[in-house]
Amino acid sequence: MGYIEPAPIKDLENPFESMMSRFHIAAQHLGLDDEIYNVLKSPARQVIVNLPITMDDGSIQVFEGYRVIHSTILGPSKGGVRYDMGVNIDEVKALAAWMTWKCAVVDIPYGGAKGGIKCNPRAMSAGEIERLTRSYTESMVDVFGEDRDIPAPDMGTGPREMAWMMDAYSRSKGMTVNAVVTGKPLVLGGSLGRTEATGRGVMVSALAAMEKLKINPYKATMAVQGFGNVGSFAALLLEERGATIKSISDISGAYFNDSGIDIKKAIEYRNNNNGTLEGFEGAEKIDGNDLLTLEVDVLIPAAKEDVITHDNASKIQAKLIVEGANGPTSAKADNIINEKGIMVAPDILANAGGVTVSYFEWVQNRLGYKWTRERVNRRSDRIMKDAFEAVYKTSQEYNVPMRIAAYIVAIDKVAQTYKYRGGY
Ligand code: NAD
Repeated sequence: MGYIEPAPIKDLENPFESMMSRFHIAAQHLGLDDEIYNVLKSPARQVIVNLPITMDDGSIQVFEGYRVIHSTILGPSKGGVRYDMGVNIDEVKALAAWMTWKCAVVDIPYGGAKGGIKCNPRAMSAGEIERLTRSYTESMVDVFGEDRDIPAPDMGTGPREMAWMMDAYSRSKGMTVNAVVTGKPLVLGGSLGRTEATGRGVMVSALAAMEKLKINPYKATMAVQGFGNVGSFAALLLEERGATIKSISDISGAYFNDSGIDIKKAIEYRNNNNGTLEGFEGAEKIDGNDLLTLEVDVLIPAAKEDVITHDNASKIQAKLIVEGANGPTSAKADNIINEKGIMVAPDILANAGGVTVSYFEWVQNRLGYKWTRERVNRRSDRIMKDAFEAVYKTSQEYNVPMRIAAYIVAIDKVAQTYKYRGGY
């Protein structure tokens, strides 16, 4: 399970425009100057490379690779590299901007970037992927850098690819530079606590929101869509804090137990069952879509984008939605949810625990020191809680939904920094 960074909302034709629609609303609330609006709406740098790779059968195939740096106003840019046939420049641009806002919301000193290679890693051998990864890294030697631009895993990439990137970059510099990528295997300088970091951040955000809504965690009922890295850790950690998880789901369908699912057992079952919940007996099987509209206090979409749409939004009964996934709610559904008065802890806030611990990985690498899991958890919990409070306060101040408030916090921080730094 590699870790995946922000994805655009898919129900609008162009992902960049979809991101911009929310940016635009927040910018209007802030009364952002036209000049700064124009600076922030366009990526700072876009690099497209062609990578000829010798395949195992001796043929040469050319792959297109991208890296977009949206902003370095707050610090070196940070963002994952995606291997997927659907990768294109518009998507990478949207994802890069998303990273700028996400890092700014949690107040970590990074700008935003994203990269990708148009390829199908499932149809390639490990050797082919390694050659492609090394070639991509070499072509980006002047873009990447521990103080410049720091890649991480995303869809189709994981610790293995990060190790190759770190090695290829280090070779080109003639020394080991492990802080140039995050999401590395532990032995290469990966951080303890990274695996569970996003689910943990979802838990912290959920508890912070429940406190505002006066929902007692011991009496709270929840439904969690997606039982991969984010969903299963979020469910486990919330169960440990007293919540009753009535329903969980994965690609095989949804599972419901009115008196609560034993999450530890469900994880154990999944781990011994090829990663799926199919056949899980601790609950009754229900239709996957029904999970979203169950009568529960908290709904946690933690599977994929665009699952809460204008079709099902009006049927949602939860009082709180905590977005573990990136872009699970379409822009049209946003309006319905706001009208219903449901609180949303939005993706750029609620799932930022992952990038926060990636930042800690970079900090540890640069210090040449390793933190304990307890220190990592304590510090990331504090960052997540502070970010939640800042976004909540802004939503009250501007009388806007939490999603727009998160954008306001992010854009304001980047715009203020830009003003101090100045342009040409
Ligand atoms: P994962 O691959 O580990 O798990 C995805 C889960 O969703 C699996 O259980 C899969 O079976 C399930 N799923 C897929 N389609 C489904 C459907 N239609 N209905 C119900 N379940 C379905 O992925 P992950 O790392 O847990 O990421 C999940 C989401 O969280 C993604 O949107 C990702 O971008 C986002 N996210 C992840 C991280 C991270 O650190 N892992 C960080 C930020 C955001």
